Order: sequence, then C-alpha cells, then structure tokens
Amino acid sequence: MWRYFSKFIHSPISRFNPSKSNSIPVNFEMGSYCATRICNLQTLFKGKSSGYSTVTSCDSFSEEKPKDNSVSDMLVDSFGRLHTYLRISLTERCNLRCQYCMPAEGVELTPTPKVLTKIEILRLADLFVSSGVNKIRLTGGEPTVRKDIEDICYELSSLKGLKTLSMTTNGIVLARKLPKLKECGLDSLNISLDTLVPAKFELMTRRKGHEKVMDSINAAVDLGYNPVKVNCVVMRGFNDDEICDFVELTREKPINIRFIEFMPFDGNVWNVKKLVPYSEMLDTVAKRYPSLKRNQDHPTDTAKNFMIDGHKGQVSFITSMTEHFCAGCNRLRLLADGNLKVCLFGPSEVSLRDPLRNGAEDHELREIIGAAVKRKKPSHAGMFDIAKTANRPMIHIGG
Ligand code: SAM
Ligand code: SF4
Repeated sequence: MWRYFSKFIHSPISRFNPSKSNSIPVNFEMGSYCATRICNLQTLFKGKSSGYSTVTSCDSFSEEKPKDNSVSDMLVDSFGRLHTYLRISLTERCNLRCQYCMPAEGVELTPTPKVLTKIEILRLADLFVSSGVNKIRLTGGEPTVRKDIEDICYELSSLKGLKTLSMTTNGIVLARKLPKLKECGLDSLNISLDTLVPAKFELMTRRKGHEKVMDSINAAVDLGYNPVKVNCVVMRGFNDDEICDFVELTREKPINIRFIEFMPFDGNVWNVKKLVPYSEMLDTVAKRYPSLKRNQDHPTDTAKNFMIDGHKGQVSFITSMTEHFCAGCNRLRLLADGNLKVCLFGPSEVSLRDPLRNGAEDHELREIIGAAVKRKKPSHAGMFDIAKTANRPMIHIGG
C-alpha cells in the first residue's frame, strides 16, 4: 500500500526566519451542506472553547482566528523548504484492489477506533491551515468510501486560509457524489485511470468499474472542474501502448492527463522492467504530437507539464523514479491513523493522534509537528538506482 513505499526504499538493499508579512489570502466559500454535530470541544479544540457545544457545519472552526495565516516556523524544515501542502489520507479502505497498490485480499487495516475521526481530522487540519498550509488533498485508500466525506469537505473548505481543497479518487462512486462534494467546497480533482480498455481495467483493479470511472471523469468536466486531472500509472507491457490514446482525451476536453512513473513498495508488482521512464514516454508523445511544448512549471510542481496546439487539455509527467523533486518538496502527509509523514519515501512517522487524544494543547501539537518537519532529510534515496541494483524476486502484473 501507498504508505509503505518507505519499507522498500529503506530495506537492507537499499533556519528560516518566518516573515510576518508572508500572509495567505483568505478564500472562504460558504457551501450549503449543513449537518448538526455534537463534539467535546474542550478535548479536541483545546484553548479555543470550553465544554460540550452543539454547533452546525455552517460554523467554522476558524471563526476566532486572525484573518490572515502567517506562515509558522512549524512548517519550515532545516533546508528552508516551506510545507504549505497537506495530504490527508481519510481511510485505508478501498473499493478496488489495484495490483500495484494492494494485494487481492486487501491490506491489514488499522482498527476503526484508532483511525482519526472527522472531528480529529478537522482539529489537525485547522492547526495546519492556521500555521500556513494553503492546500489540502484528500486521499487514501479511497477517500470517497468514507461516509462523512461531504461533511469533511464542507468543514475543510471553510477553513480560513485554505486556498485549494483537492481529492485524489479512483472515481468508482464519484459521479454520484460529485455534485454534493462540489457544493461542499471541493475545488479540484485527480481521478485515477490506468487503461481505456474495460477488460484491462478489471485485470488491473481486480474489480469491474471502468464505465463508472469514465462517467466520473465526464461528470467532473460537466460540473466545470478545469482541469480534470487523470492519473495514469504507466507500466510496460500493460498500458504503455495506450499513451497516445490517453493524450487524445485532452483534445476536446479540459483533461490534464498525468503519466506517472510506476513506483516500488512492499509487496507490489514492482519490476524495474515495468518502469517506463519519463524520457521514453515523452518521446512517444512528442513523435505523435510534434507541437508538444513544455509549460513554465512552478518550483513546487511535481509534474512536468506540456501543451499541444489545439488541445483543450494538457499532458503531464510525474517523474518520481527518474527525476525526483525533493528540492521543491512542500508536502506533508497525515495518515488515516493520525501519523504524520514528512516524506512519502522516508520511514519515519510521528503520531499526532495519541497526543491529541491525551489532551495536547495546540502549541504542544505544533511542537511535535515542527520537530518532525525539522528532521526531514534533503532528499530521499535515488530510487531508480536502488531498484536497478535491488536484484529482488519480482512479481509480474497479471501473473
Ligand atoms: N484510491 C485513490 C486513487 O486511486 O486515486 C487515492 C489513493 S492512490 C494511492 C493515489 C494515487 O497513487 C493514484 O493515482 C494511484 O494510481 C497512484 N499509485 C498507487 N500506487 C502506485 C505506484 N506503485 N506507482 C505509481 N503510482 C501509484
Ligand atoms: Fe490503491 Fe487507489 Fe487502487 Fe485503491 S484505487 S487500490 S487506493 S491505487
């Protein structure tokens, strides 16, 4: 599973002065999704309220905060990288079993009482956003399998200082849920799809559902998401012959197809021969589309972005294997069990759930987060090199 990349990478084979003027504009959108909740604000929102209260989703947790979000030292590592992007894994559960991500029987799940509740997620997210995080991505597992997903979106999108609320989803149940999610403030979407051939989809995900994912992509376009990002993990011998078919999706629709280099982690179907490097994918696309042009990327972009003359959408490449992007890394990850990871490929995790449940004050949580961020390494190991020399037994996709 995704969180276990580091186990492969780390197996035997293998001061910033925060400027007060650095404030982030407020983007507060009021959605219409309201639900009543009762929570022990004293335990969970220490220092902000006292005792039990009944509040509605229409109240923002951030009501008492200053209007600007000064970037706090907590988010700056020892190399001056500012972490303004938080990925929150809402669940370890998933309704698919992609061969490169999960075994057929699924993964061992954290027992439900140890998974962060909605209120705990919101408390932590509030802490991050009030410290300068301006983008949150919801992921998993599959985030849409969480029953309280709409409410979580609504509450998060209401946090003052949050500019973008995104989600990465497999799209299986998205078409149905998307209108409400949009109403609840979901700003941007990545939908994963590795093949345009239904039979191959079933082979890869061990489930049916190709049509549902296509419906979700179309629903997202119809609802005005622009671009609709489509994540496609490219694997030699499986879908590398479909690269240009995927590019065709960008001709008439505002779809950003993102070709992702296949990455290794514990127990997946990693085989270095299955990696199609960025250079090769680029070559394939450039040969068919000679007008392919590189865009000006932002330093924190993990994607290399391209345009093709006359196409409404774009083409991108995520080169995690052959050209890592550690220097501009601005990401932190909060896992479903409340552990914080400062690097996807690093082994270290620190629990925020335990201190939270033991009644930690905001400043104590900030200290724990800040210390973890300061321990972040300048870069993770060169994965392609590790993989090349690993000489481990390889399992092949589909057999
Ligand atoms: N379930 C959601 C989904 O599939 O979109 C969100 C979680 S999934 C782990 C997030 C993204 O990671 C997906 O786009 C998926 O394709 C990608 N991914 C998973 N395993 C990968 C691997 N071994 N190499 C590259 N990308 C991978
Ligand atoms: Fe993993 Fe996402 Fe596939 Fe589920 S849908 S198995 S979380 S990549």
